Amino acid sequence: MQDDGTCPVCGEQVIEGHAHSDAETAADEKAPWHFKLMVVALVLYLGFRLVDVFI
Ligand SMILES: [Zn+2]
Repeated sequence: MQDDGTCPVCGEQVIEGHAHSDAETAADEKAPWHFKLMVVALVLYLGFRLVDVFI
């Protein structure tokens, strides 16, 4: 559990009995941190591509 009481895996509020294995995390659960990671990676990628143009 994270400091704000949300689950580090699925990002939802942790209630009693909230648990899941790594295998469960994929498709059917929304995964905000996965999405954020993807966005950050995309921004970094595009940033480096942009820097490449000017160097
Ligand atoms: Zn969870």
